[in-house]
Amino acid sequence: MTFRAAVITLYPDMFPGPLGVSLAGRAREEGKWSLEAIQLRDFAADKHRTVDDTPAGGGAGMVLRADVLARAIDHARAVMGDSKPIPVLAMTPRGRPLTQARVRELAQGPGVIVVCGRFEGFDERIFAAREVEEVSIGDIVLSGGEPAALMLLDACIRLLPGVMGAPSSGTEESFENGLLEYPHYTRPAEWEGRTIPEVLRSGDHAKIAAWRKLQSEVDTRLRRPDLWERHEGARVQSASGAR
Ligand code: SAM
Repeated sequence: MTFRAAVITLYPDMFPGPLGVSLAGRAREEGKWSLEAIQLRDFAADKHRTVDDTPAGGGAGMVLRADVLARAIDHARAVMGDSKPIPVLAMTPRGRPLTQARVRELAQGPGVIVVCGRFEGFDERIFAAREVEEVSIGDIVLSGGEPAALMLLDACIRLLPGVMGAPSSGTEESFENGLLEYPHYTRPAEWEGRTIPEVLRSGDHAKIAAWRKLQSEVDTRLRRPDLWERHEGARVQSASGAR
């Protein structure tokens, strides 16, 4: 099954961009995913191809019009025409932070329609009117939704069947089990006086697995106390549920 992506943007030339090379580029050539970059201006109703207007209530900047966005989304849904509904995601810092769990769900579906904002963002009415999921890629503000859309698509594409070499490389990553991944090392065994942890050279797979698990837990606790708290909460809950 081909994972189908449509991106609604004022800058279709930004796609596939970095998704045209490496794993994603090869996967697209092999038909594992497809991409349609849709120019939002094509859905404007005037000869100037206007897509935005001033904010209601005043203030700086411009806002993308709901009517123009709606026509573009309706068009994208029509061209994607699938028996399963294709989720529509708008990239916005006001959205729900993107997680690996959500990416995995999306990658298992038929595809995505991604709407990229510009200026001050979207007329709020579009979200309920077209069942659009608002997604943020972090607590930062970009000048446009395109880099965020590229990130979202990259994260989905690498999980598609047959895209990554070793199947375990998809499931042993950071966030897949609620923790950060353990640290990696490679040759040479000694470099600038720094050595690889002895256990990794022991050849004892059980010991290596135990060391990696511990590192993963320690690093998560130190670097991402928010993740650790959630992980511990879920562990305690499942243990008490099992009793
Ligand atoms: N006025 C908006 C706010 O303060 O929430 C910021 C608008 S931003 C300058 C323009 C566009 O960039 C947004 O509509 C969105 O599409 C995209 N964008 C910026 N930061 C983002 C983020 N953290 N996650 C997803 N999209 C983002």
